[in-house]
Amino acid sequence: MNPSTPLWIKTPLAILAADGADASGGVVVSGGRIAELVPAGGKPALECQTFDASRHVVLPGLINTHHHFYQTLTRAHPAAINKELFDWLTALYPIWAKLGPEALRLATRLALTELMMSGVTCSSDHHYVFPDGLEDALDIQAEEATALGMRMVLNRGSMNLSQKDGGLPPDSVVQDADTILADCERVIGAYHDASEGSMLQVALAPCSPFSVTRELMRDTATLAKKCGCALHTHLGETHDEDEFCVSMFGCRPVDYLEDCGWLGTKTWLAHGIHFDDGEIARLGGAGVGVSHCPTSNTVLASGLCRTRDLEAAGVKVGLGVDGSASNDSSNLMEGVRHALMLNRIRYDATVSHLDALRWATAGSAACLGRDDIGSIAVGKQADLALFTLDELRFSGAHDPLAALVLCGAHRADRVMIKGRWTVKDGMPAGVDIEKLRHDHGAIAKLFAEAA
Ligand SMILES: [Zn+2]
Repeated sequence: MNPSTPLWIKTPLAILAADGADASGGVVVSGGRIAELVPAGGKPALECQTFDASRHVVLPGLINTHHHFYQTLTRAHPAAINKELFDWLTALYPIWAKLGPEALRLATRLALTELMMSGVTCSSDHHYVFPDGLEDALDIQAEEATALGMRMVLNRGSMNLSQKDGGLPPDSVVQDADTILADCERVIGAYHDASEGSMLQVALAPCSPFSVTRELMRDTATLAKKCGCALHTHLGETHDEDEFCVSMFGCRPVDYLEDCGWLGTKTWLAHGIHFDDGEIARLGGAGVGVSHCPTSNTVLASGLCRTRDLEAAGVKVGLGVDGSASNDSSNLMEGVRHALMLNRIRYDATVSHLDALRWATAGSAACLGRDDIGSIAVGKQADLALFTLDELRFSGAHDPLAALVLCGAHRADRVMIKGRWTVKDGMPAGVDIEKLRHDHGAIAKLFAEAA
């Protein structure tokens, strides 16, 4: 049959459709979009080829709102394990200064592949390390995402406040503000596609209050506004950050953000843990998003994000894995499970698997400012993650959607992005997994020794 013929993903075991819509008969995909939801016992209006989904639980493709792909090269690093954020960063900055183009290429390919195999169809990556020779970091990432068929938001990160100026990173990993802003404009021009169904977008992403000057924060916000881009940074991750802001800038992090012109609907923040009630109300009123990173927050002992309070105040809450040296994996389904568990500790058992799945899909899409992905509804992009319950860990499970989260689904059987299968039978199309693991592992050895 002609590959452009609509595809009926027929009678899934379960499906998470938007707003409780009946899609028990499956979905029809055509032209890269979801064309029909088929109710129980129904048949598509369009003439279709068929994919039998009777073994599959169908989710909207997961969306990862925060990551640092390059950190896959320094997972479980002896210099950094068992430390909290500032000590962890100080140990790793000099090691990350060794990052070069080939290492970043392999790290990006590995992280994207790992994410995709866990059901991710769109990922953000916050890249802020630009040692000499790595000026084309985002070009490399754009090439890799395109080759894999992954939807991606490239975050042009930046650091220009080094130790000599009172910041945390060493001089070897920072750039000057003029270089940073010029490259921001360049990558926006080259890669930012704001159209519906876009596969590549650019966000501007100074790293954090303790690695960027106030002037660069302000100038970045001005440039993002001019170019119609989103803004992203780390905020509210630790109490150390609060203390740094007060001593360096004379105010708490949210005051600082407001002063820099960052409080708006196109800003999403990584972590967002240590906000007080008044700050949460201000963030909600401004329509800011928060990328909740439960696994990383646990590894670095950073704290528990106030997701329910944030959402009640109007903050958009999405999910992120965060960097692979503070996770140390790139598996967002695992993050969904951790989100459920941690939020039950913070709140109670009314936080459900559906909340955790919503954060990883529609919530994440909202953080990224997108309404064309993140849910299964007619007209949305055909980004889907299909899981089977064939592994031992699911045997005896009854509610299929709850089972994915409670029993710990880890690996999608099928993934579709923009109507194209990118994972089949658990394996990513066009990727030699063994070679990738070998090549990535070999280049990671360069990062074995502390500088
Ligand atoms: Zn991060």
